[in-house]
Amino acid sequence: MPQAARGSRRTLGVILPSTAIRVVTMQVDGACHCGAIRFTATVDPSKVMVCHCTDCQTLTGSSFRVVAPASIETFTLHGEPKRYVRVGESGAKRVQAFCPNCGSPVFAMALEDPTQVSLRVGVLRQRNQLAPALQIWTRSAQPWVNALGTVQGCEKQEAFNAR
Ligand SMILES: [Zn+2]
Ligand SMILES: [Zn+2]
Repeated sequence: MPQAARGSRRTLGVILPSTAIRVVTMQVDGACHCGAIRFTATVDPSKVMVCHCTDCQTLTGSSFRVVAPASIETFTLHGEPKRYVRVGESGAKRVQAFCPNCGSPVFAMALEDPTQVSLRVGVLRQRNQLAPALQIWTRSAQPWVNALGTVQGCEKQEAFNAR
């Protein structure tokens, strides 16, 4: 537990741990690979999650997506991303924003009346400080994903060059 989160607060005679009432937020900034799209926002690191849905697999060209939700009031965008509207299983329409030049996915939000922005953690400068706290759509997770730590690894690509 971080030092700052220790302690307690007395409310109506009930002692509440301060962690139960306080949201620790983090200021983040992100950019696509070519730098044409940049943004800043405030995220709650405890809300970072992995999505294993098949749409995220296709839209990222990878095996899962990592997202950090941010309140839209905290979000400032520079540059003009391309917007693709995805219709989810629930019928909800969500805008998927990506760089028209380099193709990096940068964020998503509801098509109508968005209150939150789902930042793509891979484009955040602080991504190594944002470990996921939740996984969703695990029914479509790749079967090998939990065993990744057992797969041979090397710091760069020496093993790949040797093949
Ligand atoms: Zn770009
Ligand atoms: Zn997904």
